[in-house]
Amino acid sequence: MKRVYIQTFGCQMNERDSEVMAGLLQGEGYCLTRRIDQADLIIFNTCSVRDLAEQKLYSALGRTKDYKQGNRRVLVGVAGCIAQQEGSRLLKRAPQVDLVIGTSNLRRLPALVEEVSRSGCRTVETERDPGYPHYDLPSVRATGVRAWVNIMYGCDKACTFCIVPHVRGEERSRPMEAIVEEVRGLAGQGCREVTLLGQNVNSYGKREPRTTEFCHSSVVRGEYSRESFARLLKLLNDTPGIARIRFTTAHPMDLSPGLIGAMADLPKLCEHLHLPIQSGSDRILRAMGRGYTYAGYLRKTRLLRERVPGVAISTDVIVGFPGETDEDFTRTLEALREIRFHSLFAFKYSPRPFTPAAAMSDQVPEAVKEERLQRVLQLQETIARCLYEGYVGKFLEILVEEADPANGELTGRTRGNLLVHFPGRADLIGSLQRIVITQALGHSLRGKGVHGRQ
Ligand code: SF4
Repeated sequence: MKRVYIQTFGCQMNERDSEVMAGLLQGEGYCLTRRIDQADLIIFNTCSVRDLAEQKLYSALGRTKDYKQGNRRVLVGVAGCIAQQEGSRLLKRAPQVDLVIGTSNLRRLPALVEEVSRSGCRTVETERDPGYPHYDLPSVRATGVRAWVNIMYGCDKACTFCIVPHVRGEERSRPMEAIVEEVRGLAGQGCREVTLLGQNVNSYGKREPRTTEFCHSSVVRGEYSRESFARLLKLLNDTPGIARIRFTTAHPMDLSPGLIGAMADLPKLCEHLHLPIQSGSDRILRAMGRGYTYAGYLRKTRLLRERVPGVAISTDVIVGFPGETDEDFTRTLEALREIRFHSLFAFKYSPRPFTPAAAMSDQVPEAVKEERLQRVLQLQETIARCLYEGYVGKFLEILVEEADPANGELTGRTRGNLLVHFPGRADLIGSLQRIVITQALGHSLRGKGVHGRQ
């Protein structure tokens, strides 16, 4: 049996695509290996959203030269956003790459691998597949307890720093019935929690590919309702066997009262929202093309906290966007102090090809970006520690995800997506446990069980 090693960079969309690639290759007789040195086929599923992720790919590719030496024929493939962005340039830049496959071409992976192995000719396929997105492909899911489910693809926003619309194309929503069917199937296989995936899930429903492919006709016909996503959540909430529903990523502009209402009313919808703020300065938000002001963002988070008590909000922050002054940056720090996020991902702005921000003249020096990044991380550390300490003594519901046999500990997540460690038996994996929190750790909690299986 041939072995395939798949390394995934970037977001959950890529993780899900890797599961599909694993499923397609399994159908061709490949088994997954965690040992890159033993693989017959190495695939890097890449991310181009930040320069750092791109650099990581090139250093990983550099290391594959060692595996390609000797008698064994090893194929190296690059998939995902960098593959889509660079296409045949990747073959020139990295001679060890045999195959480049774009974000909409996954269905062709087995045929391309077969073709390259037979002919020995390197190949690139990044032309948009008109049949994409395809929902019918097999996959090997990473865990049995939790699963990612794609509900939409691409993005129609035009944030000036972001390459996603270029590499993933326009927004296309998956038909509701297909999503519901997939979630029912997952529940039948023992899955307890689903995370609905899309670049901008709360604009779900705007364009369904089956009827409107690549045009805006459903919007023009007025069929698009801002509440389509809330409707989908209501349907999924009725799926027997599924205990929890999450989604990512939501755009602040499209966070509607209907969605907040759904979060308040639907018992299976978890009290967690990842809502990227990016900056606390209106001037920078405007330059980023984000479509909201800080006051608007704050209003929505307040309404959310009012309607969904105890909700945990996480966010993304970019520091050093072109033209960001000390005053703009101070507004971001003030926003973090005012909103008090449970967690955040902070990044230094890096210019991406094909994006308007890359051409902006007032780029911020690297040293300033680094200093601002450290200040954001330090502030967040203090806020998170304080929030986490507030959980000590509280009783929380945990979905048990994995066991560490070395120390007899289980790990699971609260409904607010906080990681909790506690002693317990491995047969509790997949169950909901009531846990009392005994200690706040750096970025997780420790607790002990109160009840048996639920
Ligand atoms: S909403 Fe903006 S940041 Fe998010 S994927 Fe779309 S363009 Fe990129």
